[in-house]
Amino acid sequence: MLVLHVTGVSSGIAIGKAYVLHRERPEVPEYALPENLIEGEIRRFTAAIDSARSQLESIRDHIPKSAPPEISSIIDTHLLILHDKMICEAPVDTIRKKRCNAEWALKTQSDELSAVFEQMDDPYLRSKKTDVGQVVDRILRNLLVSNDEEHEQITDALDGQIVVANDLTPADIVLLKHTRIAAFVTNLGGPISHTAILARSLEIPAIVAVHNATRAIRSGEQLIVDGKLGVLIVLPEPGVVAEYQHRQKRIVQLKRELETIKASRSETRDGCAIKLYANIELPDDIKAANKVAAEGIGLYRTEFLFMNRPDLPDEEEQYRAYAKVVKAIPGKPVTIRTLDLGADKRIDSNSRGGETITVNPALGLRAVRLCLHDTSLFRPQLRAILRTSALGQVRIMIPMLSSLGEMFRVLDLIEETKAELTRQGQPFDPETQIGGMIEVPAAAVSADLFAPHLDFFSIGTNDLIQYTLAIDRVDEAVNYLYDPLHPSVLRLISMTIRAGKSAGIPVAMCGEMAGDVRYTRLLLGLGLDEFSMHPSALLEIKRIVRESDLTELGRFAEDVLNARHTGELHALVDKMNER
Ligand code: PEP
Ligand code: MG
Repeated sequence: MLVLHVTGVSSGIAIGKAYVLHRERPEVPEYALPENLIEGEIRRFTAAIDSARSQLESIRDHIPKSAPPEISSIIDTHLLILHDKMICEAPVDTIRKKRCNAEWALKTQSDELSAVFEQMDDPYLRSKKTDVGQVVDRILRNLLVSNDEEHEQITDALDGQIVVANDLTPADIVLLKHTRIAAFVTNLGGPISHTAILARSLEIPAIVAVHNATRAIRSGEQLIVDGKLGVLIVLPEPGVVAEYQHRQKRIVQLKRELETIKASRSETRDGCAIKLYANIELPDDIKAANKVAAEGIGLYRTEFLFMNRPDLPDEEEQYRAYAKVVKAIPGKPVTIRTLDLGADKRIDSNSRGGETITVNPALGLRAVRLCLHDTSLFRPQLRAILRTSALGQVRIMIPMLSSLGEMFRVLDLIEETKAELTRQGQPFDPETQIGGMIEVPAAAVSADLFAPHLDFFSIGTNDLIQYTLAIDRVDEAVNYLYDPLHPSVLRLISMTIRAGKSAGIPVAMCGEMAGDVRYTRLLLGLGLDEFSMHPSALLEIKRIVRESDLTELGRFAEDVLNARHTGELHALVDKMNER
């Protein structure tokens, strides 16, 4: 039995037989061709491109409705790459000029492209290298794998098995979902890759970055995958299998138990009401929020409406989207965040979204900075949100505030927009609440200066941690430093909560930390009383809230803030979680 502690990216426990997909980049042969075979070789290459096209189109047609919209856009990107001259025409020239085989012509072209991408400073553009590589691999497999061999090696026979592969593309995951695999394990990958995001949304337990998994594991061997704790067990002993079967049953039972508290109040043992909101990305996500009886929407990430399309949504389209959300969750607050584009969130429309290549995009023209820089992008959104306020309880939330000046400029713009709507006889709620995201350390440190001018705060821990600890949230290499329990992060959270409380405004948290059960008790102890998270986490957080005693947790949290070293801090948090 071999037990490995690795990176779990999608929770759930799977027990099953391994199915090893040997799809490492194929060994590419190089040989010269006589003149009379050149045209035939070009036809062979074109046929491989055609097959790649129909494979990708077929995958796109099979994407489940529940998959996030960016998945079909990834397949569209692969189709665009396939049609690019650099991929479908340049190798033909090489075959003619060098009289070499198609695989070699494609490989030399791909190596050249790869070197160009490697030189790019911009991480977004650099990341496109992976997409190009995946398309090239697909064509190579078409050239190298004989017709009677199963091209994708993905068949119906995978029912209940655990797929082990070097890497899997989002397209593979779509195919695998149909074969009802139990889980997957890959040599490569990271927690925020599209593949990981898709696995989570399709609820497939998954473990990534297990170096050499495809060499160490053989098809048919029994595996256990714990995607939540990141544990992979190869050839488990019978007692261990029994233990994990028990845990699997416990998860099912827990889900059932959680269902029973859906209608119960989110209140601590000592009678304090804790608000539990949902985060949503697209209007359709509201269904998941209602399913767990969220008390409202604490974060509506509107930028997703702007992504994966060639144009920008105008005021009317935005109004319709926001109105759909507000109407779908009647009587409950909907916190609409103004555009947070830039950094890793790009749009396709020309010259918007800060896509000029900057050295440090996360520190560049992002979110409110971009909106204030380009008010023609911002004003229609403010109009659309304010108009929606006539339909229900709408709150406006400003991302990435770092200076008071920015806040005042946004508040002025909102006032101007209200005056404009009044002149035009457009209804809106003049009392619409305006809040700020506290996600830049500068804002957390001076939260007391922001508080008197805003109606609420919401702590964005994803960015607060990135900016406090100076680690790019999309850089796999520094992921290991991403630590919500870093004393500096906890102090900033505590300062923000205190500043909000003394100014009498509510403080929420909408970063991933708010939906992570490891931190719920600590956050409650620090005085946080509004949590906003992915709907799937909400009932589990509610269970913890209902078991908690705020007075007791407050004492623990004070000790955590005063801890002199990491070991002591972690021990205290563990102790809180044992209660
Ligand atoms: C955050 O930064 O914590 C947050 C909620 O916003 P986003 O993840 O969209 O940047
Ligand atoms: Mg953020």
